[in-house]
Amino acid sequence: MVSEKIVASVRETGVVGAGGAGFPTHVKIAAKDIDVVIVNGAECEPLLRVDQQLMEVHAREVVQGLRAVCQATGAKRGVIALKRKYDKAEQALRDEVSKASELDLFLLDDFYPAGDEQVLVHEVIGEIVPEGGIPLMVGAVVINVETLLNVSKALKGLPVTRTYVTITGEVKRPVTARLPIGISIREAIDLAGGSLIGDDYMVIEGGPMMGKIVSNISAPITKTTKGLILLNKSHPLIESKSGALSIEIKRAMSVCCQCRLCTDLCPRHLLGHAIEPHTTLRAVSYGITSDVKAITQAFLCSECGVCDEFACVMGLSPRKMNMEIKRVFAQKGFKNPHHEKELTADPMREFRKIPVKRLIYRLGLAELNVGAPLTEEEYEPKRVVLLLKQHVGATSQPIVNVGDVVKEGDLIGEIPEGALGARVHASISGTVREVDRETIIIER
Ligand code: SF4
Ligand code: SF4
Repeated sequence: MVSEKIVASVRETGVVGAGGAGFPTHVKIAAKDIDVVIVNGAECEPLLRVDQQLMEVHAREVVQGLRAVCQATGAKRGVIALKRKYDKAEQALRDEVSKASELDLFLLDDFYPAGDEQVLVHEVIGEIVPEGGIPLMVGAVVINVETLLNVSKALKGLPVTRTYVTITGEVKRPVTARLPIGISIREAIDLAGGSLIGDDYMVIEGGPMMGKIVSNISAPITKTTKGLILLNKSHPLIESKSGALSIEIKRAMSVCCQCRLCTDLCPRHLLGHAIEPHTTLRAVSYGITSDVKAITQAFLCSECGVCDEFACVMGLSPRKMNMEIKRVFAQKGFKNPHHEKELTADPMREFRKIPVKRLIYRLGLAELNVGAPLTEEEYEPKRVVLLLKQHVGATSQPIVNVGDVVKEGDLIGEIPEGALGARVHASISGTVREVDRETIIIER
């Protein structure tokens, strides 16, 4: 297939980055002058089990997807980067990549955050992405495993209607399931046997480090939902994620000893980026707004959570301050002023990687660190709620009306003319019951 056709198929079928914010894949793979496509198979968030199993069970499709992306971008090389410990996936992939001389595997140690795309790029090709930049600036495209699976389906004209999700934590049967997009989080939890601890739980969507607490379990799962972790309301991780910023600031003022451990372990600082979370914490908690660099360096934060969930012995959260600073700056239209390109990684970087085993103990998740076997059993929901924005960019425009009968895979949301966005398709066959600017509800 010629590269324009690959890009068009990916656009038509609504493929977005399945492992992150949902950047439209047809835009990402339309990039040119690429040296290497790196597949992010690190899955470094504890407890999540999607990518490692997809690489094992669907090795052929993942490699097909990778070859298509290499062709679309003109990349000379494709590298699947996965943890050394995913030995079954490695074996399955080796058989496939050995058939193509331009493809290879790269084995990563078991550290967090090996899957941060800037960390990954440095591990695989030794380059450092400029501050505030993207891998493209060093000739790389980084792509998620499930996204490649969706690319391989796109080549057959199959739109994105399902997503793989690990449902784990305090559930009866931790599982990694292929779910129709638009079912509720509550239904997904029921598919894992339901809660082991009654109603006294909260759910984290995503991994324990970067995931967010779900405020409403009736909310639908989307193309980017990868993990649902059910934890006791009193679990330290829930307390740490739900702490109010105003209290964090007061605590920081009274107990931050400026030991700078948060900075010494910050993965972006270790790549040579000018981010020093201990100085942000000091500036915010004491209101030192004249220290402009300490405030604006928040733009360089990946929100990985190493500073608050692992490094800080006082339980403080430079990350929350960075997130708030970025939120306020975005509201006011301020842009990142940090763009240094000549960067050198910290010589101590190799010794400051966070072993995932230690991280799991630190997070209080050792007992919940169990398998979540993959099942491809079809679940047939009665109703789905499809968000028209499950991706980076503009909200899709509904192209169906109440009462329309649709089949699974039919186009229901179109990208607005000339905008960055992704198409939305019906994930079940049925009748359209509600349509507004943000959602389409279909009942079987
Ligand atoms: S690790 Fe904690 S106590 Fe130390 S400087 Fe950072 S925020 Fe302050
Ligand atoms: S969350 Fe903390 S450790 Fe991670 S990049 Fe931001 S400041 Fe650094």
